[in-house]
Amino acid sequence: SREVHLVSRPSGEPAPENFTLVTSEVRSPSDGQVLVRNNWLSVDPYMRGRMNDVKSYVAPFQLNAPLEGGAVGTVIESRAGDVPVGATVLHFAGWREYALVDAPHVQQVDGSAVPLQTYLGPAGMPGLTAYAGLTRIAPVRDGDVVFISAAAGAVGTVAGRIARHLGAAKVIGSAGGPTKAQRLVSDFGFDTGIDYRAGNLDKHLREAAPDGIDVYFDNVGGEHLRAAIATMRDNGRIAMCGAISHYNDAAAGPGPDNLMQVISKRLTVRGFIVSDHKDLAADFTGLASSWIGDGSLRTPETVAEGIDNAVDAFLGLLRGANTGKMLIRL
Ligand code: NDP
Repeated sequence: SREVHLVSRPSGEPAPENFTLVTSEVRSPSDGQVLVRNNWLSVDPYMRGRMNDVKSYVAPFQLNAPLEGGAVGTVIESRAGDVPVGATVLHFAGWREYALVDAPHVQQVDGSAVPLQTYLGPAGMPGLTAYAGLTRIAPVRDGDVVFISAAAGAVGTVAGRIARHLGAAKVIGSAGGPTKAQRLVSDFGFDTGIDYRAGNLDKHLREAAPDGIDVYFDNVGGEHLRAAIATMRDNGRIAMCGAISHYNDAAAGPGPDNLMQVISKRLTVRGFIVSDHKDLAADFTGLASSWIGDGSLRTPETVAEGIDNAVDAFLGLLRGANTGKMLIRL
């Protein structure tokens, strides 16, 4: 079985030299374990944070050990009565071709309801992130103007659909480059798509929302957060979900220079981590499955083939090479 190891901690942008592919022997399961042939690996931005040796909400990756991440695979050997051979399972031992997993740490998933890999994307963790953010953290109300950054990504595409479902009057997204910005409108149901790389984000946001925005779902931080604060209406809400524009910063930079407006505009700004909102998962998975089934939630994905391309997929994710969920197919 081949697996990806971290061999050194990146400073700034990660490079291929920080990783290596290691071949290890496939072992048989012990009592209570299953052996899984991984079919899909998830590539996620938070993995960049785990490459730093700092205390956070998840422990840092260990050097010279397989990386971890979400994965979907098929059980090929089982010593756990409740997880039979042939079951398709969601688990956390990704970045490797075969995984030995304790049965309580796998969740059986149904590939006939939605495609298996969507449990790593719109029907799984990223989708639930969008749902928790817009129902609980910065709730969208009927008639709201909503702005979502990294809108063409895994979380962002679902957030756009959820904002609509919750009655938003206008859903604005931003993404890098003209093609992604255009697809926000033509494919993903946004009213306006802003190409932030073209510059003048403030101006474009103001034009898209002349009367201001009520809810900002922040995936990016930095300039996006500053522009959103400048455009918020009084009593607006901001869900701080991610700050990907800072993930490769070697040292902390200055924050938005207009935070005073949080006070004058009486804004509510709240950060969150999806794992605290698992109680919403059953509701959300039901909704997502029905939307995927009726075609009202598109499930774009960018797929890298084979574990040899896993590192490139991760480096690409941080640079915006993906539309929708970034995945590795094994
Ligand atoms: P995406 O599928 O959105 O992929 C990341 C995207 O970020 C890229 O495609 C790129 O799109 C964009 N990006 C990269 N650099 C920049 C930059 N400097 N400025 C603006 N955009 C940039 O990833 P996810 O949907 O998985 O995650 C989105 C965000 O949500 C991340 O910040 C992630 O950390 C966060 N998150 C938070 C969770 C939580 O519990 N709080 C859980 C899951 C995710 P583009 O081409 O448009 O620039």
